[in-house]
Amino acid sequence: MPPNTAPLADAALVALREHFGHRAFRGHQAAIIDTVVQGSDCLVLMPTGGGKSVCYQIPALLREGTGVVISPLIALMQDQVSALEAVGLRAAFMNSSQSGREAFDVERRLRKGELDLVYVAPERLLTDRCLSLLDECRIALFAIDEAHCVSQWGHDFRPEYAQLSLLRSRYPGVPRIALTATADEQTREEILDKLAMPDARRFVSSFDRPNIHYTITEKSDARAQLLRFIQDDHEGEAGIVYCLSRNKVEETAAFLCSKGLDALPYHAGMSHEDRARHQARFLREDGIIIVATIAFGMGIDKPDVRFVAHLDAPKSIEGYYQETGRAGRDGEPAVAWMVYGLQDVVQQKRMIDQSEADDTHKRILSAKLDALLGLCETASCRRARLLSYFGEALPAGRDGAPWQCGHCDNCESPPATFDATESVRKLLSACYRTGQRFGAMHLIDVLRGQSNDKVRRFGHEQTSVFGIGSDLDDRAWRNLIRQCIAADLIAVDHAQFGALRLTEAARPVLKGERQLAFRASAVLGEKRPRGRKATRTAGRPSPHSAADEVLAPQAQLRLQALRDWRAAQARERNLPAYLIFHDATLRAIAQGQPDSLAALAEIPGIGARKLKEYGDQILSLTRP
Ligand code: ADP
Ligand code: ZN
Repeated sequence: MPPNTAPLADAALVALREHFGHRAFRGHQAAIIDTVVQGSDCLVLMPTGGGKSVCYQIPALLREGTGVVISPLIALMQDQVSALEAVGLRAAFMNSSQSGREAFDVERRLRKGELDLVYVAPERLLTDRCLSLLDECRIALFAIDEAHCVSQWGHDFRPEYAQLSLLRSRYPGVPRIALTATADEQTREEILDKLAMPDARRFVSSFDRPNIHYTITEKSDARAQLLRFIQDDHEGEAGIVYCLSRNKVEETAAFLCSKGLDALPYHAGMSHEDRARHQARFLREDGIIIVATIAFGMGIDKPDVRFVAHLDAPKSIEGYYQETGRAGRDGEPAVAWMVYGLQDVVQQKRMIDQSEADDTHKRILSAKLDALLGLCETASCRRARLLSYFGEALPAGRDGAPWQCGHCDNCESPPATFDATESVRKLLSACYRTGQRFGAMHLIDVLRGQSNDKVRRFGHEQTSVFGIGSDLDDRAWRNLIRQCIAADLIAVDHAQFGALRLTEAARPVLKGERQLAFRASAVLGEKRPRGRKATRTAGRPSPHSAADEVLAPQAQLRLQALRDWRAAQARERNLPAYLIFHDATLRAIAQGQPDSLAALAEIPGIGARKLKEYGDQILSLTRP
C-alpha cells in the first residue's frame, strides 16, 4: 500500500463531511476515490442512487486541476452545477445550450484553474476547440458518466462515446473513471475495450435496491387499480407511470387529472417544448406524476420519486430494473408496482415477431421477454429473482431454503399455488384437437362449452373437448393460458393471427409425466396488505435506506413547516426543492429537533456550506 494512503483517505472523509454532509463512505466509494486520487483508472458499476457522483467529485477536489465530467445529459447539467455550487464547489458546464458569452466565461475560468469540476457533453469535448483548450489546462481526471453509452447493442448508444479512447493517448497520466448503472458482463467488457482502459480496476456493487418494494399484480381494470394504488398510499407523491403506447399515455394522464391528481403526459410524439416543460415541472415541483412511454427516463436523477408504476409489462428484466430504478434514489422507501395480463404477453410477442430483426436477434428478444414473464409469474421472492438474473450470488436463506428479501409482495404474502396439471391438460388437448389454429378467446369458448357462430362453423361442438372446462370461468382460463405461455407450454403464432400452438414442453404434460403448480388467480391489491405501509422486515440489512418510521404528531407538524420553507426557498432561487435539502434530511431535523448549530451539523445531509446558509433559519423554524 502506498505510504500516503492514510492522509488521503482522511482528506477524502473531510471533504465528504464538509461538502456533502455525509458521515461515512458507503460500499466501494472510499476505495474508488483512493484509486482515482492515486492516478489510476477505474470502472464503477453501481446501481442508481448508489452514490456514484462523489466518486469523481471528491478526487477532483483532492487532485490538482479541474475534473472533467463527460455526460450525455445536457438537460441536467445546470442542476448538477447548481447542486455543487450549493455545497461550495466551483463548477461549470459546457454544452450547446449556452450563449457564446457564457461559454467564453467558462473557458476563461478553466484556463485560470478556477474550477473544481466542469461538465461537458461528449460532442462538445471532441471539437478541436475544446481539446486544444484542455491541452492548456491542468486536468485532475476525466469522469465518463453513463459509460454504457459506448455500447452499440444498448438502447442508449452514442457514437461520440466510441471516440473517447483518444483521451488515453492525448492525456496520458490523467486518470479516467467510467461510471454506469447498467449491469451486464458484456457491457462492462465493451466499455473497457472501447474506452481503451485495459488496466482499469473494476468496482462492482450489489445491484440490490433495498429501499424499493416490489409488487406485480394481475391486471383487471388497470386504470382503476392504478388510481387505488396512488390514492391509498401515494397521494401527493412524485411518481412515474409507464405505458407502452402514446395513446395510452395521453388517456391515462387525462384520467388521473380527472380524479384530481397532478399528472402530466410525456412521449416522443409531443413537441419538444411540451416535453421539456413537463419534464421541468416534474423535476422542480413537489408531487407531480408523469405518465410516459420509455422515451422518458435516462438521466432523470430526481432523488425523491416515490413510485414507478407499469401499466404494461416492459420488454425485459433489464428494462424493468432500469425503469423501476428511478424510484427512491435518495434511499428513502419507494415502490415499484406493476399490473400485467394476458394481453401484454400477446402484444409483446407480436411486437417481436413483427419486428425487422433477424432470427438470432428475435430469439434473444424472446428469451429476454420470457425472463421477464418468469419474474411476473414467480411465486417466490421477486428481489431474489431480479438479483440472480444479474448474476448476483444471494445469501443462504433459513434452513437451506432459498433466500427471501421480506420486502416484496411474494415474501409478504406468499401467493397460493394450485395443482394446475389437469386444467392445463384440458387446455392443451383443446388446442390440439382444434388443429392449433385458434386464439385464446375461441379456445376458452370451446373449453367452457359456449356455443357461438364460430364454434358451430368449425364444428367444434362435436369435438371431445367441447365443454370439458366448464368448471372454470373466463378469467381463470385466461390466467391459466397466460401462465402456460410464460412457462413455454404453448406459443402464440402471430403469422396465424394469434393462434396458440403446442411446444415441445407440452408433450410430457399431455402424457401425464409432468405436474404443474401455478399461481392461484388473485387480483392483487384486494387481498394483499398494502405495499409500502405494510410492516417492513427487510431480510437484508439495508445499507442506505432511512428508517420508515412514523413521526409523532408534533414532529409531523415540524416536518410540514420545513417542507413549506423548502418550497419557498426553491421558488425564490429557482432550484428543485431537493437541491436545498433532501426529504431524509428534513425528516431527521423534524425528528431530532436539534437546538444549536453544532447539533444541526450532526444531521446527515448538512455540510458546512449549507449549515452557514440555512442553519439559523432552520433553528428558528424548529425551536420549541
Ligand atoms: P448515483 O449517481 O449513483 O445514482 P448519487 O451520486 O446521485 O447516485 O447519490 C445518490 C444519493 O446518495 C444522493 O442523495 C447522495 O447525496 C447520497 N449519498 C452519496 N454518498 C453517500 C454517503 N457516503 N452517505 C450517505 N449518502 C450518500
Ligand atoms: Zn422478496
